[in-house]
Amino acid sequence: MVKETGFYDVLGVRPGASPDEIKRAFRRLALKYHPDKNPTEGDRFKQILRAYEVLIDTKKRELYDRGGEQAVKGAGAGCRTGFRSPMDIFDLVFGGMTRMRNRAERRGRPVIHALPVSLEDLYNGATRKLSLQKNVICSKCNGCGTKEGTISRCPECHGTGMEVHVEQLGLGMIHPIQTVCSSCQGQGEWIRPRDRCHACNGRKVVRERKILNVHIDKGMRDGQKISFHGEGDQVPGLEPGDIVIVLDQKEHPTFQRQVNDLIVKLEIDLVDALCGCRQTIRTLDNRILLVTSRQGDVIKPGDTKCIPNEGMPIYRHPFERGRLLVHFEVKFPEPGWLPSERLQQLQSCFPLPEQHMNTEETEEVKLVDYDPSAERSRYQGEAYHEDDPRQHVQCQTS
Ligand SMILES: [Zn+2]
Ligand SMILES: [Zn+2]
Repeated sequence: MVKETGFYDVLGVRPGASPDEIKRAFRRLALKYHPDKNPTEGDRFKQILRAYEVLIDTKKRELYDRGGEQAVKGAGAGCRTGFRSPMDIFDLVFGGMTRMRNRAERRGRPVIHALPVSLEDLYNGATRKLSLQKNVICSKCNGCGTKEGTISRCPECHGTGMEVHVEQLGLGMIHPIQTVCSSCQGQGEWIRPRDRCHACNGRKVVRERKILNVHIDKGMRDGQKISFHGEGDQVPGLEPGDIVIVLDQKEHPTFQRQVNDLIVKLEIDLVDALCGCRQTIRTLDNRILLVTSRQGDVIKPGDTKCIPNEGMPIYRHPFERGRLLVHFEVKFPEPGWLPSERLQQLQSCFPLPEQHMNTEETEEVKLVDYDPSAERSRYQGEAYHEDDPRQHVQCQTS
């Protein structure tokens, strides 16, 4: 006769129930009242956890049967739960589910692969064949892992999928900690070596090569994901997860991408900057654009001009494109590039500068090359502190 039946009642089993019956009852209730599915029943779920934690542990169950809930508390055992969160125990009971992302849906976790692509691929679109290894259910044993379907309970955990370790708390107090059974990885099953399926060696799954055709659409982006529904690793009793391909764009030597725009650097000669330029740019689909500026336009170093509709195709609107931004750099001639008499000729082409005459008030000074490090070392002693915020305020208000 047991002293109390409260924990048995919570799980809806009779006091003489076997560990298997307790486990089954818990599974059923945990699925029904799990906070993921039933957020308002949190307390009910905790009671279920608590009852299960005691009844599935032979020693705690004995204590409980003899002295009720008070005895389990008094013994120090179970004064704090060995599970870190409700999800932990959920994983334990559903055996091997620790690896699963979405427990409620019983789906395998996604397998993620990075696929290197060029900017040309993203511009023109491409199809890539990707060869992968994945787990598929063994066809010889249909995923049961044995020759004749002879599966026994794991002798280490007696089919519970859990092991109990004892933690010493000092003063003779111990605290049991439950973890996933290391012999069966929480499956609760064990197959004798001679009964194991030859094809999969009892693992229930075999590795198989799979070729995926990955379609890269025009305008896709670096980091964009392409999912293959249900193509992930197969696990007995679970819906396979997805294979997720993540595009990884390599840097391009000429073009940089900025959302739907492309940026290109163009170095032009000073004469072109002043008189108008004609430059060619090879596009990502191998056309040659002749870039011309209007006559009379002046391009300054660092100027950015744009060419509409020559940027990236817009994802899912491939006939529309962003802009091509042209960032100009101006190549200046070397010192002494023009003899002095021709310099005067050149000068005459420019508007007359305001004349600064030498008077008594003017002092003539010569320009020399600037060396930033020379001045810095000279004033090192009184250098102002760049991280002093007051300095910045002064700068702004002066
Ligand atoms: Zn097999
Ligand atoms: Zn086991």
